Amino acid sequence: MLDSPLHPDTTAVVAGRPPHVADQPLNVPVHLASTYVAGGELEYGRFANPSWTAFEEALGALEGGRAVSFASGMAAIAAVLSLVPGGARIVAPRHSYTGTIGQLDDLVARGLAVVEYVDIADADAVAAASVDAAMVWIESPTNPALELADIPAIAVAARAAGAIVVVDNTFATPLLQRPLEQGADIVVHSATKYIAGHSDVLMGAVVTATPEHAAAITARRTLHGATPSPLEAFLALRGLRTLPVRLDRAQSTARELVRRLTDHPALKEVRYPGFGAIISIVIRGGADAADAIGGRTDLWVHATSLGGVESTFERRRRWPAEAPTIPEGLVRLSVGLEHVDDLYDDLASALG
Ligand code: PLP
Repeated sequence: MLDSPLHPDTTAVVAGRPPHVADQPLNVPVHLASTYVAGGELEYGRFANPSWTAFEEALGALEGGRAVSFASGMAAIAAVLSLVPGGARIVAPRHSYTGTIGQLDDLVARGLAVVEYVDIADADAVAAASVDAAMVWIESPTNPALELADIPAIAVAARAAGAIVVVDNTFATPLLQRPLEQGADIVVHSATKYIAGHSDVLMGAVVTATPEHAAAITARRTLHGATPSPLEAFLALRGLRTLPVRLDRAQSTARELVRRLTDHPALKEVRYPGFGAIISIVIRGGADAADAIGGRTDLWVHATSLGGVESTFERRRRWPAEAPTIPEGLVRLSVGLEHVDDLYDDLASALG
């Protein structure tokens, strides 16, 4: 099922299942195997695993491409970045996830790439930077600034320049944004976040528009061994089954929180891209006032990462690698599935 004709809510439930045959389990079980009897298609545990395949079928159907699973979002990003030739120019958002910037800076430091950081919300600037680029990396919304890229416009310009267009779709998920339909070549995910959705799995995925890119990405996974565990693939697929309901609920709670938080006297700014369940608030008192929230909440958990059923928050500049253009007092909120009134009361009392 490459591109499902069904509604995404249905696809999330039915894709990647064994056939409806007597005595088949409804779910592909956890296949714990390092090797298989020779002569078939699987051969060795680093090459293939049926638990990965089930997850890949479901995610691929939702994104409209071929999915390849990885040990983490960072492993997926590394595999995609390794597609560009040595010395290539890569265009990337200046506010990408810090790990993405870390990998790009590492390529630059080792003389393997030249990176131009851009304001990804400025499509004209990105198009101008794309000339002679081998890859244009998009993150939209960006983490944690929540800027939005005009993916179709950037894709047209970047492809005309011969660049591979990549979108990190972690924040939006395929339910809110389908970059391959908008002209991108490759999508990457930290499946650790919304897709797995329960803060108990570390996994990544690459979804490609063409079989050639899928083969190249699979070859990288086999070569570098950045494979997910079968149990985590099973759990990520189980999480993906409920992604539509989780995201729907988290998004409606996020919208209501944005409405209530806007004009809150403790806040300088409330950033929300209009969809999804991540909100960035900028605390008037700066870093100290933002850090103080950490000890004052009961429901909201102070933790890095996002996209789980439990609401979490983090002052992003606590990480030295975060871009200096992110305000010191910016706190990223990941809205979970608790009741909106409880979440608002807990946060408002911490802010107060
Ligand atoms: N992409 C984005 C947007 C992220 O927020 C993260 C992690 O926070 C990653 C990629 C990396 O994913 P992982 O932590 O699963 O390696």
